[in-house]
Amino acid sequence: MALPAFSDNYLWLWQQDQLAVVVDPGDAEPIHKALADHGLALTAILVTHHHADHVGGVRQLQESTGAEVFGPAREDLPTAFTPVMHGDQFELLGQSVQVLDVPGHTAGHVAYVLPNAPASPVLFCGDTLFSGGCGRIFEGTPAQMLASMDCLAALPADTRVCCAHEYTLSNLRFAGAVEPHNSALQAYTAHCQALRAKGQPTLPAKLGTELQINPFLRARHPDVRHAVARHAGLSAKEQNDDVAVFAALREWKNDFK
Ligand SMILES: [Zn+2]
Repeated sequence: MALPAFSDNYLWLWQQDQLAVVVDPGDAEPIHKALADHGLALTAILVTHHHADHVGGVRQLQESTGAEVFGPAREDLPTAFTPVMHGDQFELLGQSVQVLDVPGHTAGHVAYVLPNAPASPVLFCGDTLFSGGCGRIFEGTPAQMLASMDCLAALPADTRVCCAHEYTLSNLRFAGAVEPHNSALQAYTAHCQALRAKGQPTLPAKLGTELQINPFLRARHPDVRHAVARHAGLSAKEQNDDVAVFAALREWKNDFK
């Protein structure tokens, strides 16, 4: 379940019987309330990266519940934790959890995949991938972020993408500026507008849908490449450079109003 926090964060809580795992608890309060409301015991906390809106509640939850904290091996967190990195695999609540390195937003950002989750795989991707967008590149490079997009794009198409923020509608406004003739994008935008009008989250997103509508997963598509080249005035050589196109796409989004 997605627990809203702050203005636009989602704290993801995954439960099995009366046990729970939370992802990126930026605030302990909504987690404590959900645990009490549903009679759940917290067994683990998964952290994707070190930003305060993802780790703010970790220490308090760890102290009050004794839950084990898993976090990125290459980042510092405000509490002791079990470091994880690309290729690591462990079991939680009877589920296999796989770790992917997805640097770019931060230098050591990781994502967690439940490949055998009931119904379809689940991805907790923190601030790397959003529906219709991707995270800002604060510590890494465009080349790293593009490689992280490629890593996530290779997951099964029915993967449920649990992003950490409800940024979908503003991302889709930008996506529409990049690909004004993408009919899948137009249909998805109408779908998400209807959900938000009812106060419902647009997440989790489906990875297969993201591959059709998210410009940051489509940076090699000719339509996206040409739109970026036109907007940024890229040379013919730059237009054929995947990283240059991706970097210009990200800069376009940074300045988009
Ligand atoms: Zn962040």
